[in-house]
Amino acid sequence: MVIKKSEKKKNKIKLIEDKSLKDYVKNTSEEGIHKIEEDSGEDDKSIATDEIDGFFEDFLTKESIFKDKQVLQVSYTPDTIPHREKQIKEIASILAPSLRNEKPSNIFLYGKTGTGKTLSVLHVVKKLKNVAKLKKVELSVFYLNCKLKRVADTEYRLVAALAREFGEDVPFTGLPTDEIYRVFVKSIDSKRRNLIIVLDEIDQLVKKIGDEILYTLTRLNSELKQTKITIVGISNDLQFANYLDPRVKSSLTEEDINFPSYNALQLQDILSQRANEAFNENVVCEGVISKCAAYAAREHGDARRALDLLRVAGELTERENNEKLSIKFIDSAEEKIERDLIYDAIKTLPKQSQVALLSIFELHVKSTEKVLTGEVYEKYRSLCSSCGLKMLTQRRLSDLISELDLLGIINARVISKGRYGRTREIKLAVPVTNVNILSKELKTWLGI
Ligand code: ADP
Ligand code: MG
Repeated sequence: MVIKKSEKKKNKIKLIEDKSLKDYVKNTSEEGIHKIEEDSGEDDKSIATDEIDGFFEDFLTKESIFKDKQVLQVSYTPDTIPHREKQIKEIASILAPSLRNEKPSNIFLYGKTGTGKTLSVLHVVKKLKNVAKLKKVELSVFYLNCKLKRVADTEYRLVAALAREFGEDVPFTGLPTDEIYRVFVKSIDSKRRNLIIVLDEIDQLVKKIGDEILYTLTRLNSELKQTKITIVGISNDLQFANYLDPRVKSSLTEEDINFPSYNALQLQDILSQRANEAFNENVVCEGVISKCAAYAAREHGDARRALDLLRVAGELTERENNEKLSIKFIDSAEEKIERDLIYDAIKTLPKQSQVALLSIFELHVKSTEKVLTGEVYEKYRSLCSSCGLKMLTQRRLSDLISELDLLGIINARVISKGRYGRTREIKLAVPVTNVNILSKELKTWLGI
């Protein structure tokens, strides 16, 4: 996809008009895209292209197992949203007064990740916008994911982005914050209207810049003569509201709506619907959907995780030239997703922690039993000398092991050895099948 530069700058925050939400989500992840041209036609025989050409030809002649793979992407908006009827109705009834030019209450939605919060809110505001347009009611809706960098990382940037959506040509930096609020207030207050600001992952915003901004935004209403602002806050962190300043908490949570985690049966409904649209007929074998749902329900009922599993399982099926998505691919997909998550976590660890982890992995390759801190220390010392790293004391290594435990890669349990003091029993918290692959990566990073 080639995106014009001018388009790239915009689009981080968006006024939801009647544009499809699919486009909206697509346009928000445009960073780092560049275009790759096809061959100029001049011969470049420096690589053995024939084999690859053949591979691509084969790929094209084979029938894909997917009817529409897009359907399994997180950005896809399904037509129906099972098991969220109650929440959707509640959001709709709280926001409905905006259609009569009355100010709706602020709403706070909370629930663990993948419980359909973003989907439900976007669904309601899109419908609300459609009716408002039809009935010629002045209603503006902003949606902002606060996890996005550069828009929600300072109060100035956020308010500037809002002002910009109303056509104000404000600089990216430079004005005092008061001034930027003044510009914003002036531009939205030019006529009577309701303005709904959806702050998704609002906990991230408060973590970065504190909760004062929420106070200011809700208090702007007393300054505004024509426009009324409503805040819809969404959080994955269930405790978030309790840490807010009481004034902010009471205005933000005038209404709150809980999104409980899905159970395995509910996940099955969600998955079946998507699988029907995503895969060709007779591709998905019996038991696949229920296994996916059961896996995703194990930690908490996370629909995103369930959909990821199904998508990755489909990709692995295709990669292995299989025509049927069978249960074994769900296991491989689960392993791959876990591995990718752990991979990201350990890649950014300091070198010392990487050596500590590698020591534990190496000991576990030989046996899946528990190992003790003393054994890990032996291994750690020999690995340190292989990669020329300074050796830490056993006590420090013990601290590193605790950190790895916190990351969820290992389980370290303190046991007492009577008068010989205490030690730790260390077990793997990742599947042994992933250990070999991860060890190899660790060795490469450490230059062993
Ligand atoms: P949250 O915002 O709570 O983390 P999302 O709304 O982003 O969760 O949902 C995660 C993924 O699961 C999305 O791809 C969404 O389409 C899908 N999803 C969640 N709930 C449902 C549902 N009830 N029906 C269909 N798809 C759902
Ligand atoms: Mg969300």
